[in-house]
Amino acid sequence: MAAGHLREEGFNIWRCINEMARYKDAVCRLCRREGMKLYLKGDRCYSPKCAIDRRGYAPGQHGQLRRKPSEYGLQLREKQKARRIYGVLERQFRNYYEKAVSQKGVTGENLLRLLETRLDNVVFRMGFASSRPQARQLVRYGHVQVNGKRVTIPSYQVKEKDVVAIRENSRSLNFFKEVSEQGASKVVPEWLSVNFETLTGEIVYLPKREDIDVPIQEHLIVELYSK
Ligand code: SF4
Repeated sequence: MAAGHLREEGFNIWRCINEMARYKDAVCRLCRREGMKLYLKGDRCYSPKCAIDRRGYAPGQHGQLRRKPSEYGLQLREKQKARRIYGVLERQFRNYYEKAVSQKGVTGENLLRLLETRLDNVVFRMGFASSRPQARQLVRYGHVQVNGKRVTIPSYQVKEKDVVAIRENSRSLNFFKEVSEQGASKVVPEWLSVNFETLTGEIVYLPKREDIDVPIQEHLIVELYSK
C-alpha cells in the first residue's frame, strides 16, 4: 500500500518500525530469528523481497546450525514471537500477562485478547494500515479517534461496541483515500465491522481464541511465566 504517500505526507515507516519496540536493527532479522513471517513491513512482507523467502534461516554466524531447542527455549521463543508480532516491550508484555491472570477465563486466551484489543492492532485489523508498526504510527500522529475522541496511545485498550475511526481532517490525505478505495479487497475479521467509505469501524464483540489467527502457542507463554 501507499508507502510513497506515507513519505509524502510526513510518515516514516522506518521510524515507526523502530518505535514499535525501540528495536534498532533490521526488523526482518526478527522474522528470521523466529523462523516465520511476522509481517512487520507491510507490503514488502507479501513481495519476493521478504527476507524469510530469500533467507529463511536465523541471522548471525550460527544461523544455519540446527539445534534442538530446550523446553525453556521453546517457551521463550513463543513469548518473543508474540512480543514482536504486537510490538510490545518486555515489561509491558509482563503486565499484559499479569492482567490476563487476574481476569476470568483461560489465561492464554485472555492474554491474546488483551494484545488484539490494543488500538494499534485494531487499526491494523480494520485494514486502515498495512502493518501493526504503521498502525502504531497512525495512532501516534493523531489520525485515529475512538468514540469521537482523538486517542494517540497505541496501547489504548478498546472495548466492545467502541467506534474507531480515522479523523475527518485526516481522511483527505492521499494515504487514506487509497485505503478507502482498496476497502473492498480487504479481509476484516468477524469481530470487527468496517465502513471503508467513512473509514469507521466498530468492535462488534471481543475476539475469542478462534478469531485470533496469530501463530502463537499461548500455553507455552503461560508455562514460561508461571514458573
Ligand atoms: Fe518479516 Fe516482512 Fe521482513 Fe518478510 S519482509 S522478513 S515478513 S518484516
